[in-house]
Amino acid sequence: MTHAGLEASRKLFETASRAIPGGVTSAVRAGTRPTPLYFERGEGPHLWDVDGNRYVDFVLGYGPLILGHAPPVVREALHAQVDRGLTFGAQHSLEPALAELLVEFVPGAEQAIFATTGSEAVAAALRIARGVTGRPLVLKFEGHYHGWFDGMFVSTTYDPGRSGPTLRPLPLAQTAGHSPGALSDTLVAGWNDLAGVASILAEHQGRVAAIILEPLAVNGGLIPPEPGFLAGLRDLATAHGAILIFDEVITGFRLALGGAQEYYGVRADLAVFAKAIAGGVALSAVTGPRELMRVVSEGRVVHNGTFNGNPLAMAAAVATVGHLAQGRDTLYPRLHEAGARLAAGLGAVHPDLVVRQEGPIVHTGIGEPVTVRTVRDRAARDILAHESLVERLLLLGVHATPRGLWYVSTVHADSDIDLAAAAAGEALDDRAATGLGGRTGAAGGGTATP
Ligand code: PMP
Repeated sequence: MTHAGLEASRKLFETASRAIPGGVTSAVRAGTRPTPLYFERGEGPHLWDVDGNRYVDFVLGYGPLILGHAPPVVREALHAQVDRGLTFGAQHSLEPALAELLVEFVPGAEQAIFATTGSEAVAAALRIARGVTGRPLVLKFEGHYHGWFDGMFVSTTYDPGRSGPTLRPLPLAQTAGHSPGALSDTLVAGWNDLAGVASILAEHQGRVAAIILEPLAVNGGLIPPEPGFLAGLRDLATAHGAILIFDEVITGFRLALGGAQEYYGVRADLAVFAKAIAGGVALSAVTGPRELMRVVSEGRVVHNGTFNGNPLAMAAAVATVGHLAQGRDTLYPRLHEAGARLAAGLGAVHPDLVVRQEGPIVHTGIGEPVTVRTVRDRAARDILAHESLVERLLLLGVHATPRGLWYVSTVHADSDIDLAAAAAGEALDDRAATGLGGRTGAAGGGTATP
């Protein structure tokens, strides 16, 4: 496939940069090389940019497009809802319809509340946890991302100069303009360090409202929980009276219909969903037992939002979850098989390309160990070399994330996946001609999150 260049994208980016700071609308998108792309259309596993180039897409909107671009089932649901009204600021029948689907398929879900983005739903879950327990502190893990708001935009990356000791990481603000109060409410533990969690909980006995985690640490580089770690957290949370929150914004409806709780067989108290739940439309949810949700139904914990339960998003989610539930027995095996095929293909192209995979999520890195326990183990990775690989892939018609995360959808064919592996082989073969990068992860960058 010959690439037609990126002139139209470059021009649009130049125009955008005049009226939009940095030219992009989410900071992570600024990292696309050689230039942020402008897209015209997406269908199935493919994307077309404004210069007419076609890509096999493994970014999938950073996760929502589990059914691929513009899936017919979601389009039909949206079209039908558009003709009935865009938003009501009031109740409609899709609200109980979606809540009942979540109650049926999400382990431990007796009730659900809705918001628009993952960040918002995480904030709502933390408010419920603080409201239920009357405690101030939240424990999170280094390298885990739970959204852009101050309380959680802490220690999402590792910075050797500032992150403190491995056994007791320091809370690190990830942006200027961060509220200092948010740092004092947030405790940070090392991923897969159960003894560390136990000692932090003991030190702050009776003051920790919640333990929040990505049950599979996708944002930190697809780092799995070690056997027994999630179950150990479950026990510690119960023993200390803290609410265990699984942030399933990425894993939800992706690892399994019932998310990581089903996949790993460990029960959280609250689970947070966004991204894939609505197949490409903005929607998020928190699920949990009635006993915890009572703080909301009794009005003690306030959950507001103009767009909560927005009919367009709810229509898309009922269609997406309904489709996944109906096809559960074939769609999930296919998602896992496609992920394994992509990982095997990428893993075979070059010894320098380190590949990890969990179901339909694949991660590539250069200059890091295959087996990693925490984000700190990835400090020596060559970020520039990987970015330059992704840039060359783009010119070969493959759209992947600069930081190394690859998603497959239910509609990626084997041929799409094989094309990506072949392109990676080609891109790495001519790596000597284009330079090897050289910036390591030690500066703390590279795990920027959408
Ligand atoms: N949690 C996780 C695990 C995420 O990956 C993200 C987004 N990448 C969020 C929360 C925040 O979601 P949103 O970008 O929709 O606010």
